Amino acid sequence: MADLDTRVQGELTTRLDALSEQFVDRDDFLDPDKVKVRNKGDKWIMPDCPNCTERCCVHDDPESGILLSLRDVANLVDSGLEHLIVGKYTFKRNKRGKVLDDFDEMPKLAKQPDGNCHFYDPATGRCEGYGVRPTICRRYPYEVEYRKKNGKPFVKFIGWAKCPTMEGPQFADSIKQMARDAVNDENVSYEDIILLGEHVEALRQAGFDRFLPPPEECPGAVVAPPAGKFSKGKKNRPAEVVAEG
Ligand code: SF4
Ligand code: SF4
Repeated sequence: MADLDTRVQGELTTRLDALSEQFVDRDDFLDPDKVKVRNKGDKWIMPDCPNCTERCCVHDDPESGILLSLRDVANLVDSGLEHLIVGKYTFKRNKRGKVLDDFDEMPKLAKQPDGNCHFYDPATGRCEGYGVRPTICRRYPYEVEYRKKNGKPFVKFIGWAKCPTMEGPQFADSIKQMARDAVNDENVSYEDIILLGEHVEALRQAGFDRFLPPPEECPGAVVAPPAGKFSKGKKNRPAEVVAEG
């Protein structure tokens, strides 16, 4: 039986740590202690989850779902919960057929037949996999945004309209912890962008192969542009080889 109370530092997570150490520049990570939480005035806004009847874990839209970072995938695999990972990372292509280092789709957490998250218990309104919940759940409903003027990051409450909230300085410590989770989520997303965009073969060899499309559909693939996409005057050019460095 998988331990649902805490994340597991298993084999795939350890390999991901090693790749991250090797390829991701830690100087580009945001420091959770330095990112400011932006409050409305002096109000500390916090979701009132225990008294919420419109839970964010309820997903009746078939297109919606909880997106999984590489860390979430590794954690679920290491916890013996690989069967809850639905789909793969897929990448966008530009008009010339070049695979971009931008995601088209990401794996998602499995749902129940009624559309709710697999871990959501409608009887209690609680998450039954709280310890292994994905990164995006850890930071919700806070998110890192960047100031328009100077590009500096800040953490913002992004709860949806149905989020009942509480306000007051007594929530400051809890909010700061959620803000730290939001910064961690941002760093995990950055890690995904670097590893999936630039080191996809290393990921494949580390054990993420089953969550990746074939090599020719990944960034760095050498592909010929699709027929009929040449502009006038270039018709007779040999198919251009596009490779990402
Ligand atoms: S984050 Fe908002 S919607 Fe989700 S359970 Fe808490 S109060 Fe409800
Ligand atoms: S994993 Fe838990 S917190 Fe995340 S959506 Fe599912 S039930 Fe909600």
